[in-house]
Amino acid sequence: MNINRRQFFKISAASLSSSGLAALGMTPTAAQADVRQYKLFRATETRNNCTYCSVGCGILMYSLGDGAKNAKKKIFHVEGDPDHPVSRGSLCPKGAGVLDFIHSPQRLKYPEVREAGSNEWKRISWEEALDRIARLMKDDRDANFIEKNDKGQLVNRWTTTGFLGSSAASNETGILDVKFARALGMVHLENQARLCHGPSVAGLAPSFGRGAMTNNWVDIKNANVILVMGGNPAEAHPVGFKWAVEAKVRNKAYMMVVDPRFNRTAAVADFYSPIRAGADSAFLLGVAHYLLTNDKIQHEYVKAYTNAPLIVREDYKFEDGLFSGYDAEKRSYDRSSWAYELGADGYALRDETLQHPRCVFNLLKKHVERYTPEMVSSICGTPKEDFLHVCEKLASTCVPDKTTSILYALGWTHHVGGSQMIRASAIVQLLLGNIGMPGGGINALRGHSNVQGFTDLGVLTTMLPGYLTLPNENQETLQAYLEQRTPKTLVDKQVNFWKNTPKFMVSFLKGMYGDKATPENNFGYDWLPKWDRSYDVMAFVEQMHKGKANGYIIQGFNVIAAAASSGKVREGLAKLKYLVVMDPLQTETSSFWQNHGEFNNVNPTDIQTTVFRLPSSCFAEENGSIANSGRWLQWHWAAQTPPHEAWHDGRFLGTLLMKLRELYAKEGGVCPEPLMNVDWHYHDPKDPHPEEVAKQLNGYALADLFDDKGNQIAKKGELLSSFAHLRDDGTTTSLCWIYTGQWTQAGNMMARRDNTDTGLGNTPGWGFAWPANRRLLYNRASADPSGKPWDPKRKFLHWDGVKWSGADVPDYPPTAAPGSGVSPFIMLQDGVGHLFSMGAMTDGPFPEHYEPEESPIPANPLHSGSGKSPVARIFKDDKPTFGSREEFPYVATSYSITEMFRHWTKHSLLNAIVQPEQFVEISEKLAASKGIKAGDLIKVSSKRGHIRGKAVVTKRVMTLQVAGQEVEQVGIPVHWGFEGTARKGYLANTLSPRVGDANTHTPEYKAFLVNIEKA
Ligand code: SF4
Repeated sequence: MNINRRQFFKISAASLSSSGLAALGMTPTAAQADVRQYKLFRATETRNNCTYCSVGCGILMYSLGDGAKNAKKKIFHVEGDPDHPVSRGSLCPKGAGVLDFIHSPQRLKYPEVREAGSNEWKRISWEEALDRIARLMKDDRDANFIEKNDKGQLVNRWTTTGFLGSSAASNETGILDVKFARALGMVHLENQARLCHGPSVAGLAPSFGRGAMTNNWVDIKNANVILVMGGNPAEAHPVGFKWAVEAKVRNKAYMMVVDPRFNRTAAVADFYSPIRAGADSAFLLGVAHYLLTNDKIQHEYVKAYTNAPLIVREDYKFEDGLFSGYDAEKRSYDRSSWAYELGADGYALRDETLQHPRCVFNLLKKHVERYTPEMVSSICGTPKEDFLHVCEKLASTCVPDKTTSILYALGWTHHVGGSQMIRASAIVQLLLGNIGMPGGGINALRGHSNVQGFTDLGVLTTMLPGYLTLPNENQETLQAYLEQRTPKTLVDKQVNFWKNTPKFMVSFLKGMYGDKATPENNFGYDWLPKWDRSYDVMAFVEQMHKGKANGYIIQGFNVIAAAASSGKVREGLAKLKYLVVMDPLQTETSSFWQNHGEFNNVNPTDIQTTVFRLPSSCFAEENGSIANSGRWLQWHWAAQTPPHEAWHDGRFLGTLLMKLRELYAKEGGVCPEPLMNVDWHYHDPKDPHPEEVAKQLNGYALADLFDDKGNQIAKKGELLSSFAHLRDDGTTTSLCWIYTGQWTQAGNMMARRDNTDTGLGNTPGWGFAWPANRRLLYNRASADPSGKPWDPKRKFLHWDGVKWSGADVPDYPPTAAPGSGVSPFIMLQDGVGHLFSMGAMTDGPFPEHYEPEESPIPANPLHSGSGKSPVARIFKDDKPTFGSREEFPYVATSYSITEMFRHWTKHSLLNAIVQPEQFVEISEKLAASKGIKAGDLIKVSSKRGHIRGKAVVTKRVMTLQVAGQEVEQVGIPVHWGFEGTARKGYLANTLSPRVGDANTHTPEYKAFLVNIEKA
């Protein structure tokens, strides 16, 4: 008998009552073969998603113990969900080991406190912990809250206690974080995105309108050419990577890897070429130069769908590495000249012939002319013939019926110029006509399971949900904010969807403050904190280090392992008055005060920080949604009760907020209004249910709503089905406008499980993808201006004579006919893809190669000055911590490996067994020159500290020729630390410098200088 497990369950359930299992006719042999299935027979099956990376693989969890009196549900088996459209039942070594994380011996059991100067944890009750935390918070807030700044502007901000959100928690937790922190006036509200994919939003949004992966995991199978650069998906996103392999197998796609290491992705690629870490912009600008000089661009696409024909202002300049408007003293640009020349009608001037010397097309040609193959080879260390081979293969997709898909991850975002590397790839893909196309796009492969969601929700210092911005202190009124933040249309007839900003903002304020938000009080606008500067992670570490911060609330975020220069972070935490860590696990951050020998050599009595360690539930113990890299919101369910005394994060936030309210009600205090008025009307304010929060995120009609023609679109009290129904008059609410549609009157769209393929692997019935369930962003560009698909084999969307039809929801007005003049990039003011990004980037409208702050070569071959980014984020105090090439001659680059997920899986036995110990990769040549053999213990030092690890001497890392000299690279995997099941190790970020990307302040982790020696 040949039945699978699911069929077996189905048949069994139907037959058991009457006939028993024997009646199924199973032979003993078959029964033995299915013995594992018997074990699962009495289990409850619960659907969830893997908690590690942003592929968001479906998992089925099996638990026992439900139903019986006093019995707690406990998971005993986990396997891949065969119905899941992305993972199709697969799990990688991380996901396969997730049971060992759920039951890790390092799971926290009870609330504990480490008193100032003490050398031990002390068990306390939740009640005591929260009473003490509320007291500490209120005292700090009352003492340091800033109601008005020096100019007398109302700012309502609290700068001395910060909040770090977890990027593996659910969206429902994330929005509670936002409500909680902003209600208290916190401006240091951040999440992991700051330290990983921040540059994706900064690079993609100015190029196309949104900062997300343009396509999705399954769509990669439609590519003809795949360029993997700045990422290593075979190791970091193994299950998502199977769609790249599918493209090779079924579509005969040609896969190329350009990376500092011959990694596991390279091992299955058709072509590999090395590159010096941090030189990717030079490579990509060289590709753009090749395409332009060899006439390998898709002309019709470039003319119709990019800003190539638009004319730039006369005062825009680029000379010797500097764009116009540079202020050396402030290390910043006045960006006003990076703009179009406007006509009398306020619209951008254009030249359809592309002859005008200042049209974007010619400025781009001029800008990239320096990036010749010889120059690229010299800067990157990539052999010239390799570079040209990559160019030729990419160029083969400049025709309408071929596409390249670009895959990248932290290999681009973890660089000081990361945002511009992504911009450079955007330019390449626009020239090739590959954006909006199935099998094309720029696929930002997000890291943590919900880092996309936490970015969408604006858990970032100057952001609000849905990519709205938190007001700054000069935006004193709602009106001023909306005037400044609502973009003007720059080309006639364009959608310019952000023109709806007032509707999104007012609906957010209604979600935030509920009935307390009225037209009379500008919907509570004054209660939002207003920022004066960025309070990002780098900035808050600086503040802590200077002794100017008092408290830190950290939720599922191991900051001493994640932020740059771990030593400085640890010193900063030691200057706090209180630290609160909510986490399922014992993390290095919560035990930063503990002596762990060479790995954390501190004296606890010197550290006066009071530390609370609070056990939180993990993904397997909660309902909620997470957003995968392809923007799919997927709902998951709890399969067991939280162990011991662990609480859901929402319960922690709700109970703490109620305690703070009690204190303010009893004692009074500074500016209680925002905290008292934040809408927290949950069925139990101390423990909000994820379902009610998810509905708030979606939004409601607060009055009967009618369309232009007088048809009713929603009754008062109903859930909204589209963000198109949002209003700016207070009659709608939505905490995150891009999520509107996730939970409608028809139910929870995120919980849908229809995996029907509507074409080219598209599965719109599975979960819900923001925005509006679109699966492929900018999909109007998959058809030519007349509405015909560029490629008949890739028919995704087409004009059917009345409307846009096809496999996906159009990312375009559904009835805007071809010829109506509406361009496909509807979020941008001019409707077209940006080769020139105007003033959206802080470091230039075109990318430029700058040397890393710690460079192995004496000068940037392109510029006469330092050749380093003139606007990179650098704090004065950190300058002495940068090393020179004389002292630290080798380029270090950090990375992840297949079996481990950041600093998390070292708590999981299975993963700790397969990768028990810290190692470092070096080339055979470097090893020989230092007398190092494979397996020797070596010491790797930077100006900031050192680590030790076993030497892996390998051909995977090679000696490169860069600007006339040899450059060696040192590969440093990041996964070990002094807590966990694996052997103790050093935190790899001990080595990395505090220098940040100019746009996002995301630190450099992948190109800095070290020395090595035998330990
Ligand atoms: S770590 Fe990523 S690829 Fe691996 S099982 Fe989990 S979600 Fe899938």
